[in-house]
Amino acid sequence: MSNYTQRVRDGILPLSVAGTLPKAFAEWRFTGETEDHGEPVETCQLCGQDRLRYHFEICNDFTQHRLEVGSHCIFQFDVGVYEDGRRLSPTAAKRKLDKLVQKMRLESCIRALEALALSENSDVLRNALNYYRLNKKLTPKQAFVVFWRLRQNRIDHDPSFFNVTLKKKRYAQDLAAMATGRVHFFWKALSPSQRAKALEMGHSPPA
Ligand SMILES: [Zn+2]
Repeated sequence: MSNYTQRVRDGILPLSVAGTLPKAFAEWRFTGETEDHGEPVETCQLCGQDRLRYHFEICNDFTQHRLEVGSHCIFQFDVGVYEDGRRLSPTAAKRKLDKLVQKMRLESCIRALEALALSENSDVLRNALNYYRLNKKLTPKQAFVVFWRLRQNRIDHDPSFFNVTLKKKRYAQDLAAMATGRVHFFWKALSPSQRAKALEMGHSPPA
């Protein structure tokens, strides 16, 4: 038995009714509770994997024990994921958990923007926050100002969690006219196809 399986077995069996795997895992389900720790600093209480940013709570139906784990363990050990009382297929469960991560990312973006709008009394930033709340996207001009100010104020954020819109012709024109150094501020927020478009416009990727 590998160390990994041994560690999981030693962790889960005392908290379960069944005395063997995978029977013990059949007693566990994802509760729907998640936590964003803001940085990859947490540990999976099941397998010990560290550097986790997101925790997913699982609960034993019989013993009511709870564990904070990484999503990898939910898939690895086929822990039940339910919706409206129905157990989801592995594919649907994966989709549901991915969606929850997206939601936590979006909330962390909003928190970063709120902190920014508070620390600077700026109409541009307030408008960017309102626009983001409404559209879940930033325009290229907003994106430059937001990431420049987030960085300047040392506010924890991850540009790759944000989305930029180029849907309106005006936004694409703004991106084309922008100095490449400014585009680099939000390069990580651009999708692969948006990056390709930026390259066509004559911009280069950050070093
Ligand atoms: Zn794990």
